[in-house]
Amino acid sequence: MLTEKLKTLSKALNESDSTEDVIKALNDVFRKEVKVFVFDSRLNTFRDFAKHWTVSNVLDADINDLFDGIPVIKNNHIYYPAMKKNILLGYLEISDNSKETCELLDIAIYNIALKIQNIILNQKMQQSVEFHDSMKNIAKIIETQYELSYIIPIIGEIIDTFISNHLIYIFLKENGKFKLSWPSSCRDKSITQNLDKLSIHKGTYISTDNKTGYFPLINENNIIGAIVTKSTEEPLNTQEIEYLEQLASQTSTTINRANVYAEILKHATLDALTGFYNRRQMEERIKQETASAKRKKTPLCAIMIDIDYFKHVNDTYGHAAGDYILKTASKIIRSQLREYDIASRYGGEEFAIILPFTREEEAVMVADRLRKAVESKIINIEHVNTKNDTKTIQITISLGIYSFKETDKPEELLMKADKALYDAKETGRNKVIIYKENKGKNT
Ligand code: GH3
Ligand code: MG
Ligand code: MG
Repeated sequence: MLTEKLKTLSKALNESDSTEDVIKALNDVFRKEVKVFVFDSRLNTFRDFAKHWTVSNVLDADINDLFDGIPVIKNNHIYYPAMKKNILLGYLEISDNSKETCELLDIAIYNIALKIQNIILNQKMQQSVEFHDSMKNIAKIIETQYELSYIIPIIGEIIDTFISNHLIYIFLKENGKFKLSWPSSCRDKSITQNLDKLSIHKGTYISTDNKTGYFPLINENNIIGAIVTKSTEEPLNTQEIEYLEQLASQTSTTINRANVYAEILKHATLDALTGFYNRRQMEERIKQETASAKRKKTPLCAIMIDIDYFKHVNDTYGHAAGDYILKTASKIIRSQLREYDIASRYGGEEFAIILPFTREEEAVMVADRLRKAVESKIINIEHVNTKNDTKTIQITISLGIYSFKETDKPEELLMKADKALYDAKETGRNKVIIYKENKGKNT
């Protein structure tokens, strides 16, 4: 009889791969109600394995026995510890105290404990995969976005999908007061009251029922905001708390960078990634240079550059690699120019260059030199490649040239270089095209 039951249980456990399966297997074999509680060491509580975190009602007095691996029999119930190498994973609660059940448990508990642990590990792994995806997404935003009004909702949504069944709020401090930044409203007064209790020394604050978590956002030694998660049902679990702490730290970095960038942008003339002039500054310089060329009757050329298949670079190696390649490209470009040539980052991966005192033939030479220099550079992306093992790559650029005419308006300088660039893309990329009215000319 016992052997038969053991066999059935062992088979059923083998076939289980979820908490529900395990509970069902146990209920079937014991023919009584079986509950499994697992111990959460960080929160120091037992929680229902299957019903997702209903808290256990095992008596305090009996907990020590369980931790010592000793079963507790009480009120017609068995509380049977599941140990792994002398550490308590959790316990089974069975509404039965027969000798037979105890005997069965004595033999089967090792298998049951192993299964429980496997399932916990699997859940953690699954969560970990989702978490790393969230972190990657937030990291991506850091690299490319600086607008807080754009960043915060994205972060909110990422956390929201990651920690489901919880309401997520992001607060930012404004003039010393916490202001809800995402979503648009929070009716819960207790949250706002607790926010003021946050301190840099205490860090994360979890409410006593473990249902509300306050994760401060920090800049150096100041609290600049907080992520708050609130549940109406399930308490936060240890893993989620750890992840939220990391997300909060990542979010803090993003916000701090966005703030720094916004400050810089107020007086910026240079692009932060490449050190080239930004677009606005370039437009100023174009006004000056075209006016000067007209006045002094000196030649003036523009080269528009766009990296080929750059979307593919981002998709294949990640945004960090994309940014690094942009930086590298800008360095190569700068190294090929004269001191008084003016280089700008005109768009995402587009560069506009103006060459004062330069005739078309010279500009073509410069452009082709640039094209070759970029093409031949072997770029090491090992340290920034977030997606695969590729260590080095090469990229190409397409270039369009326009030689400014006395009768042109300033804005025609880049417009026409851009038109030539478009033709370079259309006709195969990795080439230089000179603007000609109505059609481009290959070089
Ligand atoms: P094409 O050869 O036609 O130019 O193909 P492409 O993929 O380069 O196409 P396009 O120029 O339209 O794509 C620009 C892409 O460059 C979109 C975006 O993924 C990427 N990008 C723009 N700005 C940045 C940036 O600051 N950093 C990174 N990593 N990528 C950027
Ligand atoms: Mg491109
Ligand atoms: Mg482009």
